[in-house]
Amino acid sequence: MPRIELVTGDLTAEHVDAIVNAANSALLGGGGVDGAVHRAGGPEILAECRRLRATTLPDGLPTGEAVATGAGRLHARWVIHAVGPVWPGPGAEADARRELLAAAYRNSIAVAAGLGAASVAFPAISAGVYGWPADDAARVAIATVAAAQTAPPLVRFVLFSQRMHDEFQAAAGHLGIET
Ligand code: ADP
Repeated sequence: MPRIELVTGDLTAEHVDAIVNAANSALLGGGGVDGAVHRAGGPEILAECRRLRATTLPDGLPTGEAVATGAGRLHARWVIHAVGPVWPGPGAEADARRELLAAAYRNSIAVAAGLGAASVAFPAISAGVYGWPADDAARVAIATVAAAQTAPPLVRFVLFSQRMHDEFQAAAGHLGIET
């Protein structure tokens, strides 16, 4: 199990090997973290995303999956673009999509491990524009990363607000995971 750290701050300022972008399937930029990553990282990242769309991912990146690019001007070496699900409201569909949220974390970890990253930083995937309730999003994030078989030794969650940080702290506490 990787060491898990929880911090409040801006993901794009992280000094880690890989940062995970809460992207959308189009991979061509967006709001929230996605906008911040492309603004801070510069045009190289978007150019690489466009190349992926023109070659291996003509239909975009499916929900729950992850793909790496370079990190442009960021301190990181790689950006791992992951697509979380949109919150559908409570019920059976939420249960199905929760699996996709877990997959977004699992696949990002697998990509990071495959690259040989020693450290990776995540935002709270789906918990912004995609509307996933913060407590649920935090539980899925922590539980999935803690269960990862092959992971970079350090996983940081970089939360944009104190409230989200508190949710992640509470989720770790409930799951008995040290941070
Ligand atoms: P999604 O579309 O997957 O919901 P968002 O980018 O809208 O993704 O939001 C995901 C989470 O990232 C939200 O909690 C949001 O407040 C947070 N966030 C936005 N910008 C940053 C940033 N620069 N660093 C870290 N977290 C951020």
